[in-house]
Amino acid sequence: MISTLNDIRGLKITIMGLGLHGGGIASARFFAEHGAFVTVTDLRNKHTLSPSLEKLADLPIRYTLGRHESEDFTSADLVIKNPAVPRKSKYLQLARQVETDISVFLRLNTRPLIAVTGSKGKSTTVSALHQIMKAADPRVLLGGNITVSPLTFLEECLSPSSSPVILELSSWQLADIQPITLLQPRIAVITNILADHQNSYENMQEYAEDKARIFAGQDAESPSICFFDDSYGPWFAENTPGRPLFYSAKPLPPEIGDGAFLDAGRGYYRVNNTLHEIVPPEVNVAGVHNRLNLLVAALIATIQGVPTEVIHREGAAFSGIEHRMELVEVIHGVRWYNDSAATIPDATAAGLRSLDGKVHLIVGGTDKQLDFSPLNAAWNLAASIHLLNGSASDHMQKALAQQQVPFSGPFDTLGSAVLSARSAASPGDAVLFSPGSTSFGMFLNEFDRGRAFKALVEELKTNKTLDELDQ
Ligand code: ADP
Repeated sequence: MISTLNDIRGLKITIMGLGLHGGGIASARFFAEHGAFVTVTDLRNKHTLSPSLEKLADLPIRYTLGRHESEDFTSADLVIKNPAVPRKSKYLQLARQVETDISVFLRLNTRPLIAVTGSKGKSTTVSALHQIMKAADPRVLLGGNITVSPLTFLEECLSPSSSPVILELSSWQLADIQPITLLQPRIAVITNILADHQNSYENMQEYAEDKARIFAGQDAESPSICFFDDSYGPWFAENTPGRPLFYSAKPLPPEIGDGAFLDAGRGYYRVNNTLHEIVPPEVNVAGVHNRLNLLVAALIATIQGVPTEVIHREGAAFSGIEHRMELVEVIHGVRWYNDSAATIPDATAAGLRSLDGKVHLIVGGTDKQLDFSPLNAAWNLAASIHLLNGSASDHMQKALAQQQVPFSGPFDTLGSAVLSARSAASPGDAVLFSPGSTSFGMFLNEFDRGRAFKALVEELKTNKTLDELDQ
């Protein structure tokens, strides 16, 4: 068991899953730099993993790539599991001890924690919160699922400090924290529960139970922030050992008591029947969903004692994050938005509802056994639809045909879909790339997909032809 940094020296540690998001890299670097003998193993091959491998080139690390070998697990003192590795992996059964970058961080961290989970809105919420809190206290840190492993800043968290660490946590990261009481957030949030990851969960309840773990280590005084409008919100509130606090897109009923809500574009925190305005009407991000994300960030900052003027100023200035309703360019009067982080149909529906004027949608990708019905009520918000080829697009095509909604494609390349959208759009319109599905097959991940889209949009500025763009 690691209880001080010195415990790491001389340990044999196997990192299972290097990945491309940074978590595996941070773990490998952290343990190698602290004197462990590190082996990294991943089912992906050297070529696919090369961006990650390059970042570790200066360290004495052993690799088993393209496969796993039992010996790497039986001989290790400790296995560090990547959240994407299935918990039931037979190799994990061979390990003496299994931890994750998050659980190792939690064992050693002494700072107060603010933890955020939910199906959608996590990264936007924690980024807005970080921007607001940092303006009041530059030592506030942000990590977790937002592609920054908290091991990268663990050394700043070894001596007591009142400056919190904001942790974005996925359901898999939460499931991997054993025991869950290692996580004792001073404030925790579940933004919402939307159909996601149903290829790895038996059902929605199982998924929601993993999310609920975020509250499990809280004490009765610690706020557990739940979304009142979500079908699971009241269930989370009933079952948390913490102090439930609701937020909503509309005024909360009086009997709910304290809580936060939106009303006519403004965000309020109601405490003892007194309203405090915490989100101003003019903000820099599109859509009710983003206003809700800002509301949660402002609520947490308020509870943390950040001055209201700082919350207003930073909340209004927050301009969103890459790959989430990101305005890439305005070309010949057409606004081009990259929303590649929309990996589920609900996120695409939220994106469509966020934009004014005519919206030309580029959508489609790989299926992860999701229900596409959340899009049914949103298709008609698109002025035109351009389908990208993939297993999810097959389902979308059927739904569109059933509803007699016209579409172009499916296109085999993103370049063709982009050109199709370009010919449909007129000055004043928007083109929204919001795939509503994952990216396996055509791209490494949703960020790689978003970058590919942005590169195509940049090329559009030079008036490339279809053949040139499709190269
Ligand atoms: P996460 O980190 O939970 O994946 P992000 O903040 O990165 O969430 O947003 C991912 C996608 O979901 C983007 O397409 C974004 O527009 C959409 N989205 C963000 N917040 C919400 C929300 N509260 N409800 C529904 N969709 C959302």
